[in-house]
Amino acid sequence: MRKIGQKTSQAVVKAGRKLCAATALAVTCILALAAQQNQNAVANFVTVAAPVVALTHARVIDGSGAAARADQTIVVRDGIIVELGDSSRVAAPPGAAVVDLSGKSVIPGLVMVHEHLYYPTGPGVYGQLGGSFSRLYLAGGVTTMRTGGNTNGIMDISVARRIAAGEMPGPEIDATAPYLNGPSTFLQMHAVTNADEARNHVGYWAGQGATSLKAYMQITLAALKAGIDEAHRRGMKVTGHLCSVTYAEAADLGIDNLEHGFLASTDFVEDKQPDVCPGQGRGQQTIAALDEAGAPFKALVSKLVDKRVALTSTLTVFETFTPGRPMPPGLDVLTPSLQDNFQRARDRVAANPDSIYTKLFPKAMALERAFARAGGVLLAGTDPTGSGGVVPGFANQRQLELLVEAGFSPLEAITIGTLNGARFLDRDARIGTIAAGKQADLVVVAGDPSTSISDVRRVEIVFKRGVGFSPAKLIESVRGQVGVW
Ligand SMILES: [Zn+2]
Repeated sequence: MRKIGQKTSQAVVKAGRKLCAATALAVTCILALAAQQNQNAVANFVTVAAPVVALTHARVIDGSGAAARADQTIVVRDGIIVELGDSSRVAAPPGAAVVDLSGKSVIPGLVMVHEHLYYPTGPGVYGQLGGSFSRLYLAGGVTTMRTGGNTNGIMDISVARRIAAGEMPGPEIDATAPYLNGPSTFLQMHAVTNADEARNHVGYWAGQGATSLKAYMQITLAALKAGIDEAHRRGMKVTGHLCSVTYAEAADLGIDNLEHGFLASTDFVEDKQPDVCPGQGRGQQTIAALDEAGAPFKALVSKLVDKRVALTSTLTVFETFTPGRPMPPGLDVLTPSLQDNFQRARDRVAANPDSIYTKLFPKAMALERAFARAGGVLLAGTDPTGSGGVVPGFANQRQLELLVEAGFSPLEAITIGTLNGARFLDRDARIGTIAAGKQADLVVVAGDPSTSISDVRRVEIVFKRGVGFSPAKLIESVRGQVGVW
């Protein structure tokens, strides 16, 4: 019964009832009963659902960067925030479902842009985990996300559609097409070798319903240019985890976004040949040695700022490569074998205290901060890949903590993880901040993340379009199974 959606299950219940009445067949009646108790129906994860909801006495951190406001009331009608102000002035309308949030804070639903519906489950294999991941993202407070590359083909698109139709719990998803890459060793990637193939790839996947595109490490300049032009012609944005093409080259081609901060940049590799990836490691050696106050870095930053290329911070995945860092949160939702896999990877990292990441990880933070301070648009994502350990939902909260460790204030980190993402996705008129007229995508947390960012881990209710979901129920429904579905 696990994969039966709400509509299907309702149909099964109806059919079952008819048959029960007509034949009184015990087996059929049991089937109908099972469907009625469908554990996967969206309604099972909902704790607040009413046409009018009033959240009273809340601390509101609106996502714009403005200071937190104490003792606020938010009135939500049919999924839209209709009123927001001091609790002494704004009354709960008659008949509203009232939720007293004394001692709690409300932040906008997170909007993160380097998410995936897959996870490393074996050597060179990425298991497709759209069912459990979409629940975990929502539980962590993510109400909108872009998948930053897909290795499955249709699943990102199907999951996005089913969530939009109310058939699965999860965030709104901007679904990427399968990676736009040249020949590589990845078993789950296409190989696009020229401009025509790039155009065809973009056209085909746009036709299937993909709404954004991600270029990868072995793409050629010509194929990337054709892919960007075709995507833009269709109103789609393009991001890249690059290597064969430098950040400066991609900016000149009109790319919209670059992933992993500066850690995928090969701009500073001295003998860099056009269209050839010199190896991610060689690029990273130059980045580890880069001076954020030096002219070469500043020149690249000005180009990215001038060309309005956004940069996505994915500190969460790099933290798992860095010795001496804390255990990442959320591991217990994984299957026991994936927990073991990650522990082994973590032991290997710990056994190599001279790893380049001891320099690179703090450098990544310093460069991202310098980019943002110079006027660059910084976005946030988690990238649940690497050798595992980046667990959706939990990692999105961790990413905000790491931005604060990188030198941003908690309010700035929240803006990066909400409004900046919404602006990039051109949805900021509807989501990204808490204001009258906006969609009620709201995360209720205990405590005050404007002073203690770690309070973002204490999520109690996640509202998506005014419907309140229980993080505990969402997480409990997948515990120990993440890795299977
Ligand atoms: Zn990724």
